[in-house]
Amino acid sequence: MLIVQKYGGTSVGSLERIENVANRVIKARSEGKDLVVVVSAMSGETNKLIEYAHHFTTMPSKREMDILLSSGERVTASLLAIALQAKGYDAIALTGRQAGIVTDSIYTYARIESIDNTKMRQEIRNGKIVIVAGFQGIDALGNVTTLGRGGSDLSAVAIAGALEADACEIYSDVDGIYTTDPRIEPHAKKLDTISYDEMLELSSLGAKVLQNRSVELAKKLGVKLYAKSSFSDNEGTLITQESENMEAVLVSGVVLDKNQSRVTLRGVQDRPGIAAEIFTALAERQIVVDMIIQNVGTDGLTNLGFTVTQSDLEEAKQLMESFKDEFGAMDFDNEVCKVSVVGVGMKSHSGVAATAFTQMAKNGINIQMISTSEIKVSMIIDAKYGELALRELHKVYELDK
Ligand code: ADP
Ligand code: ASP
Ligand code: MG
Repeated sequence: MLIVQKYGGTSVGSLERIENVANRVIKARSEGKDLVVVVSAMSGETNKLIEYAHHFTTMPSKREMDILLSSGERVTASLLAIALQAKGYDAIALTGRQAGIVTDSIYTYARIESIDNTKMRQEIRNGKIVIVAGFQGIDALGNVTTLGRGGSDLSAVAIAGALEADACEIYSDVDGIYTTDPRIEPHAKKLDTISYDEMLELSSLGAKVLQNRSVELAKKLGVKLYAKSSFSDNEGTLITQESENMEAVLVSGVVLDKNQSRVTLRGVQDRPGIAAEIFTALAERQIVVDMIIQNVGTDGLTNLGFTVTQSDLEEAKQLMESFKDEFGAMDFDNEVCKVSVVGVGMKSHSGVAATAFTQMAKNGINIQMISTSEIKVSMIIDAKYGELALRELHKVYELDK
């Protein structure tokens, strides 16, 4: 049996915790499992490295950022291998490149294109516990790349797929997927299972417990994915194919995403092609636009609003400056957040969105933007109401029951 385990930043956040991970790995090993262990950087380490770069400039070269950021994961991978060796176990640490992970060249947000599993297979066959530095690969020209924030989850799922592992276990400081972030809502309930699609929405909408790309890939490759805690032996949550009884549940979870900002362009020339130009320019810079609102134009002018993550706001602003002949004024709002409701049951039930809007109204919360899909409803609201809105939604859909 081959298992890929992934330990996140908090789980390897100190030398004692790396030792705890080593002991957990040894336990799994003693049960006769072959293991590939993917690790993140120690918690806070990636942010610290970003701050170091920002000491010199607000827009450091992304290629150099990737060399810098990939170092955090190498520290933990090598330390874990050393810890295991010190306990008498045969372990080998590999960088992303040594593990055969090849990506495209989109620095800081690269996609995995292929994995040459030869080296990993060989080391497993030699009886070694293989430790891989997560979050990184190389492009076709040999440049170091990283996979986007939280990207070690993606490394783990991709490796599980490439090795046809029996399961991929993602260890963090929570023992599974909850109806909402248990740090914000203590009444949140742990789910035994959740569908790939619901999990994908939850993580895309801001639940950082699993990186969204990793869920997308797990679905595509059919990887059996578990979310578990590195601090307990509790059951965890299985992320899997949708089943009929899942549809009976109207709403599975609610999410709050504080990392949002809104850009509004006022008095935009209302002509064919203007939206295409603006959003193509944003896409070319790899700026992910989430919600978009355009009003019905009057007198040849309209207003266009959209949201981006806060870290992309500076770049989006600069880019919009190059369109300044096309609109009257531009304003920004960093004091917004997004609350979302997710559930496959929405496909077959009506009124889910109306319930959410009513609950906002009861609490005097103004909804600035709305977007929906088959299995989610999202709202942009004032940042100061984010946690209140989350708790109210959790309550109104009886997720605490
Ligand atoms: P790691 O550093 O191990 O990758 P993360 O910090 O990325 O771990 O993810 C774990 C965190 O995700 C938890 O501490 C929890 O606060 C948060 N979280 C957000 N939404 C949820 C949810 N629905 N279920 C469980 N945890 C959640
Ligand atoms: N260390 C990286 C980050 O903080 C990747 C990860 O932890 O998964 O985003
Ligand atoms: Mg994470």
